[in-house]
Amino acid sequence: MGITDRFCPKCGQPTEKEGLCDRCRAGGLQWFSCEHRVESIHCPACGSLKQAGVWSDTERVKDDIADELVRNSVHVHPDVKFPDLKIRIRDLSQNRSRAYVTVSGTLYGQQVEGACEIDIAWVKEQCDRCNRISGSYYEGVVQVRAEDRRPSPYEIKVAAALAEDAESSLQTGGERLSFISDVTETKDGLDIVVGSQHIGLLLAQKITAELGGRYTTHPKLVGEKAGRQLYRITYSVRLPRFQKNDVIRLKGRYAEVLQVEPHNLRILDFSDGMVRSIREDDVEKRIGNSRDARDALVAYTDRDMAGIIDPVSSATIEHRKGKNEILEAGCHVRVLYDGDRLVVVR
Ligand SMILES: [Zn+2]
Ligand SMILES: [Zn+2]
Repeated sequence: MGITDRFCPKCGQPTEKEGLCDRCRAGGLQWFSCEHRVESIHCPACGSLKQAGVWSDTERVKDDIADELVRNSVHVHPDVKFPDLKIRIRDLSQNRSRAYVTVSGTLYGQQVEGACEIDIAWVKEQCDRCNRISGSYYEGVVQVRAEDRRPSPYEIKVAAALAEDAESSLQTGGERLSFISDVTETKDGLDIVVGSQHIGLLLAQKITAELGGRYTTHPKLVGEKAGRQLYRITYSVRLPRFQKNDVIRLKGRYAEVLQVEPHNLRILDFSDGMVRSIREDDVEKRIGNSRDARDALVAYTDRDMAGIIDPVSSATIEHRKGKNEILEAGCHVRVLYDGDRLVVVR
């Protein structure tokens, strides 16, 4: 032993550096700590999770949530190298679990290990979205109506499906409050009650893009909250008088609507097979929509005439073939009625 050798002032063992030896330094340090109790807040109705005061939807299962919560509740001194946590979780009751944690690592070259227990409280709280839905909160209504008629079952179905799509894509994108709280068919059309103005506007746009027509917005002041004025907006969607595939009569001829433009219709004229544009005002009558046409059998053909069996009365009805209209005995056609008259849809 030379004259320059140093000794630990605590345990008296020789050391390489000034001051405490590594074992005494490691032994005197509280190198980790655990919180005794942690809370996880979730919504019992929809399963949403509240973290740092913010609600979000989650696909994670209880074990994963508990694991993350426990990891964030164990604090290890920054001098510890290669820290490692082993966590075992036991459910004590429906609302309480206990985590048994083993912490290990290397501190000043010494292997260290410790253990602690953390209680997890599973707290139920109604989330912001369920709170709004159960309180009948809403920010707007999308009213789907049509010009001079009631929207067809097809249009109602499309509008309702668009509402469902819009809700699920916004919810997936994290817009929790863009929900649809009610969809009701009324005698005039469809009413869609929406939780946010964003989804209301989006729906009005999507419905008119898909079915034609236009929309107007009508805000109404309903109150004030925290100095901010609260509005409820009615999105008034007006579908056009005519829809795609409507079969119409004009000047004694029949035609199908191919496209609805503002004030004009692109039609396929059944009598000559030509496509052209007409003014909406030229239409004498809308007799139906080719989606609703019925199947009928062609009994015979004779030059420019054909006999078609009426699917309702079973009587054979004479039909004058249109130009370029190919009909053969035994083939099937689709028909609509203009009063008693049978109209063959192309
Ligand atoms: Zn020592
Ligand atoms: Zn909820």
